[in-house]
Amino acid sequence: MRKPLIAANWKMTKTIEETEEFINEFIPMVKDVNDVDILIAPPLTALSAASKLLKSTNIILAAQNVYFEENGAYTGEVSPRMLLSAGCTSVIIGHSERREIFGESDETVNKKSKLARENGLDVILCIGESLEVREAGNTFDVLDKQLTGSLKDLSLDGITIAYEPIWAIGTGKTATTEQANETHTFIRDWLKKNKEGADSVRIQYGGSVKPDNVEALMSQPEIDGALVGGASLKPDSFAKLVEGAKSK
Ligand code: PEP
Repeated sequence: MRKPLIAANWKMTKTIEETEEFINEFIPMVKDVNDVDILIAPPLTALSAASKLLKSTNIILAAQNVYFEENGAYTGEVSPRMLLSAGCTSVIIGHSERREIFGESDETVNKKSKLARENGLDVILCIGESLEVREAGNTFDVLDKQLTGSLKDLSLDGITIAYEPIWAIGTGKTATTEQANETHTFIRDWLKKNKEGADSVRIQYGGSVKPDNVEALMSQPEIDGALVGGASLKPDSFAKLVEGAKSK
């Protein structure tokens, strides 16, 4: 059985103070949850403060990005070792916003994931198609290319895949539960065909997941959790998503 993982991607929101306020309110809401893994990815500036509050809790701390070099003249970037020293045990890599706005490719996603894993960070590796691709019927071709490039020479240990159709992120549109499960099944089959240990890899769904649709999504056999933007920004809403994942 794969334990569900519900992850909050706060993107470029929340100051240190707002992060602390959220976490202080959220910890008691989920303190007894042990059948769902819970992860929060605040912005870089709030990682250290979050780490202090999350110590000895059941909540995992993640960064939203990392660079693929150990150190050096890379202004504005941070290495896996820096994230570890800030208290992270996980990192989100290849989010569609990183790919679309900051030009990340499958190759950079692959390099980042490799270095993160070498340093012992768990990775949430994001893939997903645009609306144009889905409407043209090319979703599986694009996912095949993303998986091939992003997972090149990488074992599945410590990797979670987040499938996020770009057209469903922050738009209020969700893939139907069947659409999502069909795509997750394609990803699972791809992993089985190409990698060892595919059965234990979690595949999260992301794209306008909310308290009112989380249970339906989680009821699908191949959906092992959610990566959530908007609905993770308020403690009670995020706690409801965790609650919804318990139905798994
Ligand atoms: C995301 O940021 O990965 C995401 C899925 O956002 P939202 O839940 O707001 O669609």
